[in-house]
Amino acid sequence: MSKLRFRVVETAFKKKAIEVPTPAERPSEYFAKYVFNRSKMFKYLPSKVYEKLVDAIDNGSTLDRSIAADVAAGMKKWAMEMGVTHYTHWFHPLTEGSAEKHDAFIEHDGKGGVLEDFSGKLLVQQEPDASSFPNGGIRNTFEARGYTAWDPSSPAFIVDDTLCIPTIFISYTGESLDYKAPLLKALRAVDKAAVDVCHYFNPDVKKVFSYLGWEQEYFLVDEGLYAARPDLLLTGRTLMGHDSAKNQQLEDHYFGAIPTRVASFMKDLEIEALKLGIPVKTRHNEVAPNQFELAPIFEECNLAVDHNMLIMALMRKISRRHGFRVLLHEKPFKGVNGSGKHNNWSLGTDTGLLLMAPGKTQEDNLRFITFVVNTLMAVYKHNGLLKASISSATNAHRLGANEAPPAIISSFLGKQLSQVLEYIEESKKDELISFAGKQGMKLDIPQIPELMIDNTDRNRTSPFAFTGNRFEFRAVGSEANCSSAMIALNTAVAEQLIVFKKDVDALIEKGEPKVSAILEVIRKYIKICKPIHFDGNGYSDEWKVEAASRGLDCETSVPVIFDNYLKPETITMFETAGVMNHKELEARNEVKWETYTKKIQIEARVLGDLAMNHIVPVATQYQTDLINNVYKMKDLYPGEKWEKLSGKNMELIEEIADRTAYIKEHVDTMVEARKVANKIESEREKAIAYHDKIAPMLEEIRYHIDKLELIVDNQMWTLPKYRELLFIR
Ligand code: ADP
Ligand code: MG
Repeated sequence: MSKLRFRVVETAFKKKAIEVPTPAERPSEYFAKYVFNRSKMFKYLPSKVYEKLVDAIDNGSTLDRSIAADVAAGMKKWAMEMGVTHYTHWFHPLTEGSAEKHDAFIEHDGKGGVLEDFSGKLLVQQEPDASSFPNGGIRNTFEARGYTAWDPSSPAFIVDDTLCIPTIFISYTGESLDYKAPLLKALRAVDKAAVDVCHYFNPDVKKVFSYLGWEQEYFLVDEGLYAARPDLLLTGRTLMGHDSAKNQQLEDHYFGAIPTRVASFMKDLEIEALKLGIPVKTRHNEVAPNQFELAPIFEECNLAVDHNMLIMALMRKISRRHGFRVLLHEKPFKGVNGSGKHNNWSLGTDTGLLLMAPGKTQEDNLRFITFVVNTLMAVYKHNGLLKASISSATNAHRLGANEAPPAIISSFLGKQLSQVLEYIEESKKDELISFAGKQGMKLDIPQIPELMIDNTDRNRTSPFAFTGNRFEFRAVGSEANCSSAMIALNTAVAEQLIVFKKDVDALIEKGEPKVSAILEVIRKYIKICKPIHFDGNGYSDEWKVEAASRGLDCETSVPVIFDNYLKPETITMFETAGVMNHKELEARNEVKWETYTKKIQIEARVLGDLAMNHIVPVATQYQTDLINNVYKMKDLYPGEKWEKLSGKNMELIEEIADRTAYIKEHVDTMVEARKVANKIESEREKAIAYHDKIAPMLEEIRYHIDKLELIVDNQMWTLPKYRELLFIR
């Protein structure tokens, strides 16, 4: 083993689990300790101000600017009692992370000293010099101002010595430059559209919430080993590395016992998460070695998104306390499962009802069917867009590979729900029929009695699966901001619910009774959106052929998939719902294409460098050893015996020569291809060039590197191998 590799492997394996002291308190005592939640608002704000703020949060009423000063004062008091010295607006630019710029509370007091100050103005709005955030050309650099504006619906929180205020981020001219602003608009759109539809069933509903419960998958690697892999460090994934002889084939990791050192990391992470008000609940080993999952109890979507952003930051921080690095990349290792972030999504009312859950009464079930079918319609109409919303250079490694949903959006419904829909589709108007289901359930239409949906009926190959009382959007990438998927989904559902209401009202106006009008429209929709429903094996090749014949979007090139954002029906959808306008959509696509290009560009550079200054030199050195051996053998055994004894080494010498030559040549070709692509003006065309020309070269070069890894002397190989990276000790 090379000295460097030996050292890092040694220190890694020697490292002991760091014990996290279990706090004496219970989670219920420290939950949300660092959050300016309602109980703190109540304590630190004048009662009038508290009421107005809660009204704004609960009912979306416009916040009276005059109360900002009081809110800021209350927040500051609380924060200072907690030892906080700084504050920041915390926002989600169009990168994968969150952004913050800390300012101290101090101001001159006019007497040569300072005092702690935090005004209402500073709480409500700031103007970060934000010209370096991705903006797709919306904000020219001479007009570098962007605004961050307070989002009172997500509570402020403390990280270390800083008070963090969740904000949206918009340009000087009002276009959104982040994920949160369009998300809030999409949530408002679906709220309004769903409330209107709810009124067919219950006139008391005033608000509909969109819920999100994410399941975050991740890998842990030892920090020492990570440090010796420049590809992991710079790109988040291994660009080379032969399969480990053992990886996940024994299926012994999934739900297995959690290694002690990992368990102490999880414990520490959970405590910190709970203190930040993130209701983390579930943890387990995932399929691949060193892969794990964490899931909280679902929450209102905007808050859930913020919590997911926070948890990713926390994971990065806390993993280091335990000598780990967390890998959030969708595919850090070739040949083993990648990581996703299942987005469990549903709608629920202020009256406490989950709209996608079947219920006890006929009305409940008509409402249930209504929301499920409208969701299917939305997903059907915008299946290309939904795919675009989860597509990225990194998630592309996962989609269509064997463990992940394929690059085609379809929806799994399970046997029972499929039967119900089939039944409605085929039944005649106002027909009352009953049949016995799995649990002897009776289904009368329109008098639909109790439905018990069996949610053990699962299909892990489906990208958008119905799971009992929600849909699970599984195609989302582990590294992604959930907002992207949630903006597209909620807006599409909002649009569809509006169409539904129009269709039903038209029939009612013609004198049709409400229930039969609803059923008639649903019956029509079930027929239309049939192509999106697929309960079979989503990984099979037959499905790809069938999906294409059903007219579903089967494009696999990520830069081309992004075109879905600029289709006329997408623009109409976002503009009508007031979520994003044409200009914003165009700007965002510029950012998407640019990011795609940059990611592949960085990978190509890193691979080129490593190939030329790690792999080829090491392989050549080993080859020289072999050549010396062959020469010396010749001295020892002249004649035929030599040929017999040195034959294998000669083969190795030639193999190394062939492979290193291939690598050198193709690294050069790749550099040339980049030069050509970089000259392309259009971001879209450039991204396509990177996808078509450069990305495949990475794989070709890697193939030969991985072959060399198998034959070159282990002692000489400088990079930690999969068998070391993937197994925590
Ligand atoms: P599984 O791995 O079986 O899908 P998990 O328990 O790991 O289930 O995760 C399920 C996630 O779905 C959790 O975050 C949970 O809170 C969330 N969830 C459950 N019901 C709903 C719902 N109605 N709407 C949104 N999310 C939900
Ligand atoms: Mg799940």
